[in-house]
Amino acid sequence: MSPQIIDNALGAVGNTPLIRLDKVAAQFGLKCNLLAKVEFLSVGGSIKDRIAKAMIEAAEKEGKLIPGQSVVIEPTSGNTGALRCYSQFTENDVDHGFTGIGMAMACAIKVTLNPSFAEWMLNTIDKGYRCIITLPNKMSLEKEAALRALGAEVVRTPTEAAWDSPESHIGVAQKLKRKIPGGIILDQYRNVNNPLIHETTTGPEIINAVVSTPSTPARPSSGKVDVVICGAGTGGTITGVSRSIKKTHNKECIMVGVDPKGSILALPDTLNAADDGAQYVVEGIGYDFIPDVLSRDPADVDSWVKTEDDESFAAVRILMRSEGLLVGGSSGSALSGAEKWFKTEAGQRVAQTEGMNVVLILADGIRNYMSKPWFLSMALEAEPSELASNIADALKDE
Ligand code: PMP
Repeated sequence: MSPQIIDNALGAVGNTPLIRLDKVAAQFGLKCNLLAKVEFLSVGGSIKDRIAKAMIEAAEKEGKLIPGQSVVIEPTSGNTGALRCYSQFTENDVDHGFTGIGMAMACAIKVTLNPSFAEWMLNTIDKGYRCIITLPNKMSLEKEAALRALGAEVVRTPTEAAWDSPESHIGVAQKLKRKIPGGIILDQYRNVNNPLIHETTTGPEIINAVVSTPSTPARPSSGKVDVVICGAGTGGTITGVSRSIKKTHNKECIMVGVDPKGSILALPDTLNAADDGAQYVVEGIGYDFIPDVLSRDPADVDSWVKTEDDESFAAVRILMRSEGLLVGGSSGSALSGAEKWFKTEAGQRVAQTEGMNVVLILADGIRNYMSKPWFLSMALEAEPSELASNIADALKDE
């Protein structure tokens, strides 16, 4: 379909492309197709845009959010690994993939959901929501800047406050909710709209892209989504995508979950035991409790792989340098998880079968991590000396 005018930025949430990773596939010696669902191309820059939009729209429909009146309050932090390093934080203290940006964006936009004429007359002029994000002090300035640029108010909270203390960003958010008329906290860990939006958008988009790309001698395709490899934070993505693909498209599709060492989301539990308490820096995936929205049904997630920081960051570099994709750390985890899975028995069979379609979900881009040491050291790494001297030679006076 040729591009059309869309009503506002929320219309540019999701609908992301599936991009071939041919160079990586060649590097890994794969005969199957390796495809990436590139979520940083969503308007807010991450897969989390989808749930922010979905939770806000659902709350509007349920009458819990009233345009122009409600105040969306979101305790957010965005980093399990760092929080583990600051061990006073646990559980709910984490906002995977930084839903805050998506929330702030959705709140900034004047939402008009099929209003009746009377509602339209009464409400249409200024329907945005006030948005307050509570954020521990240690969270990066680039995240605060993006939130405030979108018009959200940011309340910083002491990093040392335990998650269940009144001073923590959770405690402060709850207090604000009690005190500010119209305050509401949407809960991504329990909100059914989290997995549901992936079942109704992310999954079908993957299916459509695969089904509508013809198989040719140069680019053979099974015509099906055969494998999906995806990190889990709240688990909304993997649960929803699995339901969509297995229910409506290919019940044999193999869903592979990626979980960092130190997190406990993987099944069977023995996979987690060896690294109990390990710390990790990759953001957006992994947890130290099981969120309600993550399916524990083995029929939904067929197998799990555990990943490490170093491998994930090395894989980010591959995605950047070989495929030109400026992704965040967890996308590296998805790729390094894939590399590991391809070494399993099931993985080897897929790897060696021409035309099978393996989809990696790359959840976000590098924007929120530009100042992180892991990225800067990778990006600014010195060029090999022969290249550097080649430039120096070229610049010498003739
Ligand atoms: N954000 C980032 C940065 C991620 O890497 C992931 C995992 N793919 C997600 C969000 C998905 O999280 P969830 O399991 O909460 O859907």
